[in-house]
Amino acid sequence: MKQPAEIVADQHAFFMNGNTLDYLTRKEQLKKLKQMLKDYETEIYQALKIDLNKSTHETLTTELGFLYSELDFAIKNLAAWMEPSKVAAPITHKGTKNFIMKEPYGVSLIISAWNYPLQLALAPAIGSLAAGNCVVLKPSEYAKATSLILAEMIQNTFDPSYFTVVEGDKEISEELVKQRFDYIFFTGSTEVGKIIMKEASTNLTPVTLELGGKSPVIVDEDANISLAAKRIVWGKFTNAGQTCVAPDYLYVHEKAKFKLLKAMKKYIKSFYGKDPLKNDEYTHIINQKHFNRLEQFLSTGTVLHGGNADRELLAIEPTILDRISWNDPIMDEEIFGPILPVLTFNHIEDAVVKIKSREKPLALYYFGESDKTQQQIMQFLSFGGGSINDTFYHLANPHLPFGGVGASGMGSYHGKYSFDTFSHEKSILKQTTKFDMPFRYPGSKLAQSVV
Ligand code: NAD
Repeated sequence: MKQPAEIVADQHAFFMNGNTLDYLTRKEQLKKLKQMLKDYETEIYQALKIDLNKSTHETLTTELGFLYSELDFAIKNLAAWMEPSKVAAPITHKGTKNFIMKEPYGVSLIISAWNYPLQLALAPAIGSLAAGNCVVLKPSEYAKATSLILAEMIQNTFDPSYFTVVEGDKEISEELVKQRFDYIFFTGSTEVGKIIMKEASTNLTPVTLELGGKSPVIVDEDANISLAAKRIVWGKFTNAGQTCVAPDYLYVHEKAKFKLLKAMKKYIKSFYGKDPLKNDEYTHIINQKHFNRLEQFLSTGTVLHGGNADRELLAIEPTILDRISWNDPIMDEEIFGPILPVLTFNHIEDAVVKIKSREKPLALYYFGESDKTQQQIMQFLSFGGGSINDTFYHLANPHLPFGGVGASGMGSYHGKYSFDTFSHEKSILKQTTKFDMPFRYPGSKLAQSVV
């Protein structure tokens, strides 16, 4: 097996030869990637079942389906994205043409997380390849079966000097980050994100950091309670809560609480059955370490719904916890599991102040009917992105950039934003040779009048 330094050197040579620049070649590679996923669909469903007990429905909607949409969107729009964009010029630049070219950085490193192990590995890769880069992909070691299938299918489809997978743990990842990459795209925890940025600074390598945090869902007094309940249950318990943009905690108006929680219990039963632990379509926790971490939270506050767990299956019921205080440990770290603590407010202004006092979350969701309050919430609170009257549906729109702010990350991707993320914007001025404006030269009249 080649060492990281050798892999990166091969990719640099491949890139330097101009192999990735041509439009038709790039389009061809994206089509190959799509065909690869089609050819390996059965193995992909199996791998995600092994890693997370993901149902066919969840794998299709949140992993494969998402990637097919991103690929189709990129294939359709690539020519337009690659087109240099003309810009205006001031009068002092008379006779010039000015434009911005999108230039690939070169060799990119993509490090991904385990919770959507296929999507989070390949969605940035689509952007990087579309933009004309080479890719070294390091999937998460926690989703072993998916990591294995990613390595196999990419090895069987692409020249490793162009696109390759390096499997392995933290140590391998640390070694990779020390190499001279032209771009690093990282998805994972805020803690590791800081390490990546520090390492990248050694070579002044630009980074995108897709991190996590505690994303609140606020439900106001005037919300459509039944729809809010349904959409929150979907957003929280999809993938058993192991979603970076899952509502981490519920912040509900005191007057709406009883009705909302009653409706949420109804939807949990309707989506996952009376005994979710026995439901083969319900996603499990990734490993023992995370199961242990989550299990400790079950004794916080009062269990209002769920609360049972199966250590052997690594499954935890969709759980709602009441009587939670802001000082409980569950309110300190990102939960990243199927446990929803409930906090209440009496005045929306107080909720805003409380959320503002915490780290900027990756997502924020507001349920309420007043246009004015919706606008105020969106304006006063800083967060990566979010939805009004829904949970994480925003991330499936390729026209919206997806990313964090502050502790939840920097940079964004999806759709054209992925292409832009992996492209350097090169400014070009084309000067006329038909005449020459004299004022900038020493001794010109304007130069003298300025003096
Ligand atoms: P993690 O930070 O532990 O690991 C992510 C990746 O980094 C893995 O591939 C791992 O091998 C590698 N890694 C770990 N330590 C490293 C080090 N010291 N140096 C270099 N590489 C290292 O995160 P995780 O547990 O896989 O994922 C969970 C976190 O990711 C949560 O915080 C979640 O919110 C976040 N997340 C964010 C997004 C997003 O799009 N913003 C998506 C999914 C998950």
